[in-house]
Amino acid sequence: MTETAGPTGFEGTEPWSRVRLRLRAELGEEVYSSWFARVELERFDGGSVLLSVPTRFLKQWISSHYRDKLIQLWQQENKAVRRVELSVRGAMRPKPANGNQPLGTTATPKSIGQRTDAAIRQAMPVTPVPAVPSLPDDGLKGSPLDPRLTFDNFVEGMSNNLALAAARKVAASSSDNPLAFNPLFLHASVGLGKTHLLQAIAWAASRELPRRRVLYLTAEQFVYRFVAALRDQSAIDFKEMLRGIDLLLIDDMQFLQGKQVQQEFCHTLNALIDGARQVVVAADRAPFELEAVDERVRSRLAGGLLIQIGAPDYALRRSILEQRLSVARRAAPAFSVPDDVLDYVARHVTANARDLDGAVNRMVAHNQLTGAAVDMAMAEAALRDLMRARESRRVRIEDIQRVVSKHFNISRSDLISERRTRTIVRPRQIAMFLAKTMTPRSLPEIGRHFGGRDHTTVLHAVRKIEEQCRTDTGLAQEIDLIRRLLDL
Ligand code: ADP
Ligand code: MG
Repeated sequence: MTETAGPTGFEGTEPWSRVRLRLRAELGEEVYSSWFARVELERFDGGSVLLSVPTRFLKQWISSHYRDKLIQLWQQENKAVRRVELSVRGAMRPKPANGNQPLGTTATPKSIGQRTDAAIRQAMPVTPVPAVPSLPDDGLKGSPLDPRLTFDNFVEGMSNNLALAAARKVAASSSDNPLAFNPLFLHASVGLGKTHLLQAIAWAASRELPRRRVLYLTAEQFVYRFVAALRDQSAIDFKEMLRGIDLLLIDDMQFLQGKQVQQEFCHTLNALIDGARQVVVAADRAPFELEAVDERVRSRLAGGLLIQIGAPDYALRRSILEQRLSVARRAAPAFSVPDDVLDYVARHVTANARDLDGAVNRMVAHNQLTGAAVDMAMAEAALRDLMRARESRRVRIEDIQRVVSKHFNISRSDLISERRTRTIVRPRQIAMFLAKTMTPRSLPEIGRHFGGRDHTTVLHAVRKIEEQCRTDTGLAQEIDLIRRLLDL
């Protein structure tokens, strides 16, 4: 037995096809395919149109930027259309009510391990934030900077001292006094301080020379800004603005996608570097491994100084922990962690500083909720969750199902159910594909995890997704993203 994603019943409807054609003509291919390629028509009944998109981000973006345009184009089809609504595919049933429940005094210690970090943060004393002058704002609105991510708060160790030294040098450079290494390219896996260093450079650079034009952008925002500029026909202004920057900091370079965007980025890079302006780029891998990035961009990036930040050693982990505890103590002076517990955490939480934060957050939350002092037993209990995730690096089918259903906003029971609607079949096939490619499980075993399906069904799903990934880069990227989420 095999499953296929059946037609939605709307794909071929004439008005929607015409609206799409007009959208494409008006917005141009790049903008159209960035935002509208995966929009589907769910319902069209006289006065209102319901469209669906695969992610919440797309829903938000299209609603805030293109809703009027959509209404206008639909009205050309049918004057009665008054409303165009968007929904996230698979999100049409009501959500459980306990989503954002704040931690209250009634919470039992047992439940802490199941809560999200966000919920735990609510129970934490607010970290005191140093007063920092805001960056000069002459149309250079970058991504928001976190005031805590400064050089002062960055702990130095063997694995990051080179990167830190280079970052400090960059912050102190200027066009009159340019550096030999340009661009500076920092790479490291998640949680090792790339964003922290980039933002520290932004703060320090604009404090030392307030007139210097500093722009910090994630690559994703670079893409959005560029696409928006194309849409508003202000691409020339955007390009000029970029050429006028003294210090450009681009974070998460691995997310720079789209041919035209990359071309533009390449021009910007060349113009800035040739004009002795500093560029700093961070990514989760070295330039030559950025498969999605244009060859010319890669080689230009590789022509500067490449520095990798490694995993923190014991000494650095311990120093980071001590720094975090001293911050926590500023808000809750009575909070203390005995030495043996510190040692235990520093030995076991090895991956990165983000996990160390998670560990401290859990201990603080535990302490605040139960009123009990932190001891080994508490630390062990509070960290068990964190450890489990770290120790068993092997991805399980259950993890895949959890991440995939969350990503597509459907329930896990739908994922393994008999339901054949397109919104569920697609995620199910993706989950089966990931189960086959990320775990050592056999086809029949995978079938059993998906509601007792036959192994030929699994095989069909795997082949189908494989095939589609070859032609549909959007899908390939989405699957890549899910893989990363599973690898965290
Ligand atoms: P990345 O961008 O490499 O994924 P981040 O810069 O976001 O990592 O770091 C994750 C968290 O760990 C942040 O809260 C950051 O402040 C902290 N962190 C990372 N490295 C250090 C360090 N050397 N000293 C202090 N905090 C650090
Ligand atoms: Mg980062």
